[in-house]
Amino acid sequence: MRVILLGAPGSGKGTQGGLIEKAYAFPKVSSGDILRRAVRDGTPWGKEAEKQMRQGRLVSDSVVLEIIRERIMMPDCRKGYVLDGYPRNLAQARNLAEIDPQRPETVIEIEVSPDVLIKRLGARRICSRCERIYSLDILKPDRDGICDDCSGPLILRPDDRPDVIRERLKVYEEQTLPLRAYYRKKRAFHRLDGERSVEDIFADIHRIVDSELAKAAEIEAR
Ligand code: AMP
Repeated sequence: MRVILLGAPGSGKGTQGGLIEKAYAFPKVSSGDILRRAVRDGTPWGKEAEKQMRQGRLVSDSVVLEIIRERIMMPDCRKGYVLDGYPRNLAQARNLAEIDPQRPETVIEIEVSPDVLIKRLGARRICSRCERIYSLDILKPDRDGICDDCSGPLILRPDDRPDVIRERLKVYEEQTLPLRAYYRKKRAFHRLDGERSVEDIFADIHRIVDSELAKAAEIEAR
């Protein structure tokens, strides 16, 4: 099973992806996390991606295709994986269908209004070491500024600053939103109200993934 999480920056894809990972042992594959690590480590891909990321623009399709291909071909993704932040345009969606064509797919869009997104992104903090996501409003760490999991320092992502947020939301509307129509034509497309509690949204996601897994098992048994 491949679970694709769609939604604007700040819609909660990363948080829900982490919960799916825990519940189903499907690794969360976040293109943003992998790219941030590549930038931090100064790899060739990181060097290529850094400028676009700082400006809130999309990194080239060929770079993200390679990092996603490499990750989803790893043995721990054999049973399933959850994609957070990929695909982000139609070309990437087509690339994904080509590199892993046989896998049953469930697409879940998390919808959040622009006002709420802007507020959330401003309050978001991530662990600079393990990428765990926090929010100064609702998902606070136990100790201020320190990650509960790895004690790494929490930071405001450079692209969560107001001017970059505006650019990222524009890029989302122009390039990523068309994916809604693309995936709606496929069988397993679900849209959820993302302005509810993390637990309520995840309860819906759990139901959806359980039901899609049952359908996939049925098809395979035929
Ligand atoms: P995210 O953590 O998903 O918000 O991604 C942070 C930044 O990484 C984005 O603003 C892009 O610059 C880059 N990025 C992440 N995923 C992709 C993707 N699928 N295609 C192109 N750029 C991406």
